[in-house]
Order: sequence, then C-alpha cells, then structure tokens
Amino acid sequence: PKTHEPLFQETLTNAGINKYLFEMANIRNQCSWVHKEEDVMATEKAKDLVRMAVTKVSLLEPLIDPILEVNQNALVIGGGVAGMAAAKTMADQGYKTFLIEKNDSLGGQARFVHETWRGEDVQGYLTRLKEEIHSHANIEVFLNAQISKVEGFVGNFKTVIGWHDETQQVLEHGVTIVASGASEFKPDQYLYGKDPRVITGMELQQRFIQRDSTLNTIQTAVFVQCVGSRIPERPYCSKICCTSSIKSALKLKEINPDARIFIIYRDMRPYGLREDLYREARSKGISFMRYNFDKDLEVTKEQDEIEIHFEDFVLRRRIRIRADLLVLAAAIVPEKESPLATFYKIPQDADGFFLEAHAKLRPVDFATDGVFLCGLAHSAKPIDESITQAQAAAARAITLLSAKTLPVSGTVAFVNPAFCSSCGVCVSICPYSAPRINEKTGKAEIESTLCKGCGLCSASCRSGAIGLRGFEPAQIMDMINAA
Ligand code: SF4
Ligand code: SF4
Repeated sequence: PKTHEPLFQETLTNAGINKYLFEMANIRNQCSWVHKEEDVMATEKAKDLVRMAVTKVSLLEPLIDPILEVNQNALVIGGGVAGMAAAKTMADQGYKTFLIEKNDSLGGQARFVHETWRGEDVQGYLTRLKEEIHSHANIEVFLNAQISKVEGFVGNFKTVIGWHDETQQVLEHGVTIVASGASEFKPDQYLYGKDPRVITGMELQQRFIQRDSTLNTIQTAVFVQCVGSRIPERPYCSKICCTSSIKSALKLKEINPDARIFIIYRDMRPYGLREDLYREARSKGISFMRYNFDKDLEVTKEQDEIEIHFEDFVLRRRIRIRADLLVLAAAIVPEKESPLATFYKIPQDADGFFLEAHAKLRPVDFATDGVFLCGLAHSAKPIDESITQAQAAAARAITLLSAKTLPVSGTVAFVNPAFCSSCGVCVSICPYSAPRINEKTGKAEIESTLCKGCGLCSASCRSGAIGLRGFEPAQIMDMINAA
C-alpha cells in the first residue's frame, strides 16, 4: 500500500468511485515475501487476508478529502548555492520567494571553492548568482536571520524569523525548502591548528582564490584523505574530497611543475568521469600512496620540518615524507540536532543529515508535506549535484503551489465530544499537533488538515472518544472475526 495504494485509488477516482472504497489484501508483503518457504500455509494465510479485506470493504464508507487553500509564497532556508538555485527556480516561475540566511552574506560553502571538477570558475558563478538573487523582483532576502518559531502545515506555514536586535518578522508561505547546508570538519589531529603549514582542503582552495604567492614556492605537498570521514564516529564518505584533492594537486603542479606531490589515501573515490582527473594526475607525476589504516598515520615536527609517517599498504613498509604543505581532506559535517528538525518535524539520520521521505520514490521530499530538501543538508555532494537537487526540490514545491488548492487525506481522526473527558492525552501524543482542547467547550477537537491518520490518539484515548475514519472499531473487529 505504501507505494501502490495511491495508484489504485487514482484508478477508482477515474472510474467515478470514491477512492476510500478501497482495501488492499497485501499478499505480497505479508505473505509471499515473508513465507516463501511455506507455500501451503502461506496460501491459507492469503485466503484469510482476502477474507478480512472483503469483510472490511463491505463496511467502508465514502470519505471526503478536505480542501486547503495554498499560500502562493515559498520559503527557502539557507543562502548557499543550493538555496539560491532553488529560490531562483521558483522566483523565475513567478512565485514570491523568501530566502533566509543566518550569516551576513549569501554563498555558503561555495565561497571557499575555487573551481568545479570540470574547471568552471565557482567564484564568478557565485557573484553572478548573488546579483541575480538580490535584484530579483520575486525574491526577498533576509540576512543574519534565525528561525524562532514555525506554525501551520502544507499550504499554510507561518515562520517567525528574528535578528540579534530582537526584531522579528512573520513570513507566511505555502511550501518550505530546507537548504541549510553543512560545513567542513575542523580536525583536531595531524598538527592542524598548531602549524600554519597544515591546512584543510577548503583552506587550500581559498588560497587559490586569493592567488596566494606563497604557493609558488611549495616543493613538497602531501594530501591526506578521509580526515574525519569513514571512522566509527562518522562512518560516511564525504564524497567530494577525493576529487577535490586531485584537482588541487593538479593546480599545485600547474603553479610549480617541479613540486613533489603525494596523495595518501584509504580508497580513491573520484567517481564517474572524475576518474579522468585521477589519470591526468598520475600522468603528471602526482604519487598516489595507499596507507594502512590499521596502523597510525602520524604527523610530527622535526627541527621545524613537518613529517608524515605511515605504513604503505602495498610495500608494507613504514614511509616518512617531509612536506612544506600538508593538506587534510576534511569531512563534511552537518549540524547535529538542528532546530529545523523540530520546527518542521523532519528527521535526521544517525550522522545528522536530513533524511528524505524515500530515497527512490520521493528523493527531495520530506515525510512532512510541503517541506522539501536539497544541498549539503541532505548529504555531502559537489556543487553541480547540489544545483540539480535544488532545481528538483523547487520543481516539487511548484507542483504544490501551482495547484492553488490542495486536497488532504480523508483518513483522519475525529472526536465524539460526548465521551471526551478532557484529559489532553491526545494533544500531548499527536506528533503533528492536530488535536487541541476547545477553550469554550473544554472538549478535544482535531484539525483534520493537520491530522495524518496515524491513529496514535485513537489508540491512546482512554475514554474511547476518538475514532479514525477508514479504521473504525466495527471495521477492525469484523476483520478480526473474519480471520
Ligand atoms: Fe478527550 Fe480522549 Fe483527547 Fe482525553 S484523549 S482529551 S478523553 S479525546
Ligand atoms: Fe494526530 Fe495521529 Fe491522532 Fe491524527 S490520528 S490527530 S495525526 S495522533
């Protein structure tokens, strides 16, 4: 039902039948997949499932989807490349878009990127994009702004933003795109922060952007990969750092063709066509050395020289390289415990990245309706993929805005006030803030446009005052009897 019920329901609607007059005997998930070794018993169970579904169908009643007006404004959280690309896509199609950035300028992490893997000038692109955003008639930019409160639901969000001077503004919008980004990990090892010759990958790129002349004199540069990535604390691959180190190594070679450059890695992962850069680097004399991760890689300072010690995986020998530049390919880290997760009820994975509703079926949606996702807040990815994902998120958001009204599910909870004892359990248990106690009557009531039909309140109400349309006690009890 999770993936196919809407399709069957659409077929009913097209045939002129109320889409809630539908029940699915889920033979595939609940029978053939889980009992494939026991075909006789599985067939009996399948018959039971069909009997139960037929019984329930005989008691179903048509339900009506409440219709919501959709506010035509969009909100984008995060003024990095992904946020700006999403805002521009929506604004170009005529939708008023609010863009919130917590820092004092737009640009996000792209401010520290010199070139894309294809050699495109990132700073030039960023300057043009920022100008387009600031001058766009449909985009309103809020810098240094933080979200302090979020109310509402798909089609009708109210987000309160505030500034340090305690001024506030309420933004009303129909959709939200979260592009809140991530940042580069600041290592606490390998003499980082203790010696200026030890820098991160992005810090090296900043030096390229500033055309730092001290890079002309580098004789030996060492890149160490996977610093802070693929360890128990952060088990994921940061995806961009292999390509980025190769690209930077090639740039150093271009500046000084005689420089000796070593890339010390666990696995090289310049995926897809980026592998051509790896071949180019090898042909230009850049040395790639796989190190044994089980043996410590150490960085020491001997008579003011930086030394990198490691065991070569192939040679099985301890190697020592003296370098005048050590570049750490540091991990991309999300904001753990982001307040946005609570404000918009959106989940984060174990690493702290925001989690899409379904990796294949709804890759830029959140499970919360009307909230979409793109950029580094979702996972580490290069600029071109962030822009693609931002345009996808904007396109998904526009499918909602363009409809102007929105039907929400008719499978919602309802209160029978005569039985309600006003205990408030339903108010506290609902993950979607749908129930509230009516101040005049003192009884609970449920905002059907917020209710997701999860059934928690219905199961928790000790007074038996809450029913769930489409899952009413008579229907459930008759299914059990049929079984
Ligand atoms: Fe009323 Fe039941 Fe909600 Fe308690 S849980 S307030 S009894 S509807
Ligand atoms: Fe909230 Fe779930 Fe009850 Fe709806 S059914 S009001 S979403 S607890």
